[in-house]
Amino acid sequence: KETNSIPTPDASVDVTDLRVRFGSVTALDDVSLSIRDGEFFTLVGPSGCGKTTLLRSIAGLETPSEGQVIIDGREVTAEPPESRNIGIVFQNYALFPHMSVAENIAYGLRFHDLSGDRDPDERVAELLELVDLAGFGDREPDQLSGGQQQRVALARALAPEPDVLLLDEPLSALDARLRKQLRVQIKTIQRELDITTVYVTHDQAEALAISDRIAVMQDGQLQQVDTPEAVYRDPASRAVAEFIGDNNVFSGRVTDDGSQLSIEGGLLPLPTGTDTADGTSVTLSIRPELLSIYTDNQPVDGQTLSATVNTVEFLGDAYHVHCLWNNRTIVVKAAATTPPKGEVTLQFDADDIHIL
Ligand code: ATP
Repeated sequence: KETNSIPTPDASVDVTDLRVRFGSVTALDDVSLSIRDGEFFTLVGPSGCGKTTLLRSIAGLETPSEGQVIIDGREVTAEPPESRNIGIVFQNYALFPHMSVAENIAYGLRFHDLSGDRDPDERVAELLELVDLAGFGDREPDQLSGGQQQRVALARALAPEPDVLLLDEPLSALDARLRKQLRVQIKTIQRELDITTVYVTHDQAEALAISDRIAVMQDGQLQQVDTPEAVYRDPASRAVAEFIGDNNVFSGRVTDDGSQLSIEGGLLPLPTGTDTADGTSVTLSIRPELLSIYTDNQPVDGQTLSATVNTVEFLGDAYHVHCLWNNRTIVVKAAATTPPKGEVTLQFDADDIHIL
């Protein structure tokens, strides 16, 4: 595809000590963040955690009571959105209904001087090509599917060659299949343009799938900022362990002799290198895919627990087996061909227990 004529933008986004209040609600509580040039950065967290407020603060649509927003090294905290050189896509497309697709995209160019002698029509054609909608320029928005409308919204946001692309839940209104297709397309376009991108979603799977780095938010604060792999494998807090991916999370205590983990009557082995003192209360987690399930009564090597299958969910490529162990549910992901049932043995590696 010919997109070489689109210049590569170059911008980092820094937020320092940002605080936003709505009456008595503190939507952002002392948030600091550095987003790198060309990075695909995602803000994720449960409803009301402040992710939209943070994105809107970067956009200039929300005025923080404290702190700074810096784009490409320039402080823009007091500047309106139009002088920040950003492109924004919202959840609800927000296309102009009586303008054609091409006119919608060209609208983004109205205050923008195209570099050199470039023709706006040429730029619109280039953007239609970029979002895979070549030939759709004369249609009106209501003649497009939701996914196509969102791609037009993306093209319109990219038209004036912004330094930073901001996306606020752009896929939330679409069905699950289309969401997955479009997220790959967004990621591909982001890579192609190498544009610094801040993406908001409440969908942790989406965040893991497309981001270079993720900020997990809760109650107006950042819980963890890291790569998807690190956030998944090494969650920094109980909130992250519970929000990102499927997980088994328990409260427990290191036994008085310091040799095991006590979980309300049940005992688990202590992972090697645990530096918590005897008797300390801990939160621990183990991912469903790090447990194995055995249904026959054969002896199993390694760390084991005896459990009873309670509920089984079929996932397509595996089962999620909800087992009862000492009145607690432990979910195991089992790549079996038939659903396990009855009395089972769960096997795991002590070092796969994660102490939070
Ligand atoms: P969601 O996924 O539901 O959009 P969010 O993580 O994006 O949630 P925000 O929309 O940033 O969260 O809201 C953070 C907090 O600030 C919430 O408690 C919300 O109710 C509050 N809030 C947001 N906007 C306003 C406003 N204009 N007036 C009053 N309170 C607001």
